Amino acid sequence: MDTLVHNVWIITMDNSEKRIPFHGYLSILDGRIHDIDSGKPDQSLIDEAKEVIDGGGKWLMPGLVNTHGHLGSSLLRGHGDDLKLVTWLKTVMWPNEAKFDHDLVQTAAELAMMEMISSGTTTFLDMYHLAMPELAQMVQEKGLRAVLCRGMIAFGTESEQDEKIREAVSLADSYHNAADGRIRVMMSPHAPYTCPPDFYLKAAEQAMNHQLMLHTHISESPGEVDEHLRKYGMRPVEHMHRLGLLNDEVLLAHAVHLTDEELSMLKETNTAVSHNPMSNLKLGSGIARVPEMNRQGIRVSLGTDSTASNNNLDLFEEMRFAALIHKGVNHNPESTDAYSILRMATVDGASILGYSQTGTIRQGSDADFILINPDQPHLTPWTPERVVSHLVYAAKGSDVTDVWIRGRRQLENGFFLEFDRERILHKSNELVKYFE
Ligand SMILES: [Zn+2]
Repeated sequence: MDTLVHNVWIITMDNSEKRIPFHGYLSILDGRIHDIDSGKPDQSLIDEAKEVIDGGGKWLMPGLVNTHGHLGSSLLRGHGDDLKLVTWLKTVMWPNEAKFDHDLVQTAAELAMMEMISSGTTTFLDMYHLAMPELAQMVQEKGLRAVLCRGMIAFGTESEQDEKIREAVSLADSYHNAADGRIRVMMSPHAPYTCPPDFYLKAAEQAMNHQLMLHTHISESPGEVDEHLRKYGMRPVEHMHRLGLLNDEVLLAHAVHLTDEELSMLKETNTAVSHNPMSNLKLGSGIARVPEMNRQGIRVSLGTDSTASNNNLDLFEEMRFAALIHKGVNHNPESTDAYSILRMATVDGASILGYSQTGTIRQGSDADFILINPDQPHLTPWTPERVVSHLVYAAKGSDVTDVWIRGRRQLENGFFLEFDRERILHKSNELVKYFE
């Protein structure tokens, strides 16, 4: 036995019957959850373990899953707020990103990874166009879990476009299912307004040839849908459906502006959605029809998008927004419930990204879990029956004290074990002078 964590309240998320946490323990062997049970561990288990951790009555739950983001642009946090999506892309994001070098992108990625780990995220998806092999290397070495997408904007010549696809395929050849399955790779055309239909078809063909999922932004703002209608006479999701591009190996980011017919297309093809409520609110994009998606059984997960449009990567905050905004806009508090939101951020997100071994606490699954300190005014009073409610409606990322990913401890009482916190914060502040 490698590690035994006892005296914790465990919330498993492994089926809907066990919503109430139980007091117990779990042990880790070779990166996986070996034993999990209620009560106190036998003395023999304690003796056998190389490391014994008294959880002090903290809550133990699966690490959170962030299904959409752009780590490389993290240093743009707070730069260019309060602009429309297209204006923001054209005047803030793209001109600055054109000047980014690999060193800056790596620092930005490290900053984002630290932020995610310290707020309880153990699995993330990153769509970016620079330094993806370097990021893959970092994820591998630091023991993290990530879906990496070489984001592709298909402006430019055909040979430039083909080069981007070649880079994406090469990333997949080197890293898809690498690092004990912690790394996955997806093909990622950026969006219908930056990639023509032919490019989507090429990307989808490569995704099929290499058995990769496809990830793209779609129908994020009303302007995007109007422009698509003008250009192609159809809405973006409808267009993708007609091209035969929707299936259960596709993850759509945002999907805010969908008609009833488009929702049916997602249902029919079992296409998944990454819901990014805070980014959608900040850019004034709108509010996705998540309660309808849930009612129809469309698979939905949660994402933060980048710190440039959120402006943090705290999935606890994202859960709370996801739970609240739909109640508000639908004038119906029954539109969402805490347990379903928690599923979106854990087990459902993991399954949508193609991970079967994370997102739940069960014997044999990878040891990806976090500890939360409930001994704080905003989580008091608590009873086991109230824990799910507190996690969604009251908790913050800063309540997370400890994090393990595939059995490797990443955060210990708030301290990073794989990152040089001071160096990365200092360097990020230094690099800010390059922005316009
Ligand atoms: Zn995005």
